[in-house]
Amino acid sequence: MGNDGLVRRLFARLQLVLTTLVGVAFANAATAAGERTFPFQHIEPAPLINGWQMQSETYVEPSVTERLEVGKRIKVPDFGEPGRWYVQRLTERTYFMICNAFATTAFVGDEGVLLVDASNTVEPDDMFTAIRSFTDLPVRALVYSHAHTDHTGGSFRLRDALAAQDIELRIVASQSAAREIRAHQDNVAPPTEIVEDGRSIFRFEKWDFVLGTPIVAAHSAADSYVLTPDGVIMYVDFNYPGRVPLAYISSSINITGWIDFLRHVLGEDWQIANLGHANVGYKRDIERTFDYLGDLYDAYATEIYPTWATGSAIGAAVEKNGPGLTAGVFWGNYVDQSAEIMAQKVWPKWQHLPQSEVIRSHAYKVFEDCFLNWNPEVGAVRPDFTPIPPRR
Ligand SMILES: [Zn+2]
Repeated sequence: MGNDGLVRRLFARLQLVLTTLVGVAFANAATAAGERTFPFQHIEPAPLINGWQMQSETYVEPSVTERLEVGKRIKVPDFGEPGRWYVQRLTERTYFMICNAFATTAFVGDEGVLLVDASNTVEPDDMFTAIRSFTDLPVRALVYSHAHTDHTGGSFRLRDALAAQDIELRIVASQSAAREIRAHQDNVAPPTEIVEDGRSIFRFEKWDFVLGTPIVAAHSAADSYVLTPDGVIMYVDFNYPGRVPLAYISSSINITGWIDFLRHVLGEDWQIANLGHANVGYKRDIERTFDYLGDLYDAYATEIYPTWATGSAIGAAVEKNGPGLTAGVFWGNYVDQSAEIMAQKVWPKWQHLPQSEVIRSHAYKVFEDCFLNWNPEVGAVRPDFTPIPPRR
């Protein structure tokens, strides 16, 4: 190879480096301008308007010794100090614990502690330190509210940390949760004890706990509520304390089922709830959530359905976009447009509540439920919101 060849190869290498550098620069510019991500469907982050506290509520500093007065809330932001557990005593034996926005319930028995939920953000050592602030007893049992990994994926670490102390963790879950866990390749530690769906009782030491799994599809395909013998209920990814729901109604799979699950929760006898996030809840929170969702269903019936039933909604879209309009693009635009109209309708009444910044996402989920599951020709587009008493 002569000098000529060497120069040509060096030149080729230089060209490659330059091309790569320019390519990276262009890619960065394109991302910065947002040109590479869904150019036709921009969505802006919701600006924070309300924050997490409500003027009409009383918030107290968390305490591991003083029981929370029923009706009050705990002064703890959704995102507290990272890695720190905030603990509040609720009753004689039950505690509310929250860390990195994910909550756990702890029930102190005579020989050990029962927990409901262990998020995949849980560090067992930090959790054990927090538990030692109110008892020296070891954790012996874990119950799953549902099989979503963000609430129960810490089960592996917890189980292993206890095994290192020669404690075999007892894990209680519903039939449905066990099925969902298997279906997702054992995404959380499999239960050692499977409890029948419906309304079942399991025992921890000398106490009876209720594990209610009343609905086939609600937030997930395996939602349970856990009711302690001292009147604390835990159910997760449903309503919020004094607020409208989480964005996209907690990414739930069936909104009518979500409502029916809460009707069962309302029918049970309890004083205070651990909602899995944010703060403690009361029955009045569910009632207000029902009032809010009822307004969204009404908005579908008055603002959306009439133009669908007459065909004018489709006609207007075809006229605007031309005869080449595909069904898939029509649907995308129709869903977004309908959610926007429904959100605008309910906004004036509900804008003062925390999380109303994401009303449009709630409207989107209710729109889907209305469109797919309800038929205004048969009756009102409105789920039943009355409590369902437990069948014992
Ligand atoms: Zn969930």
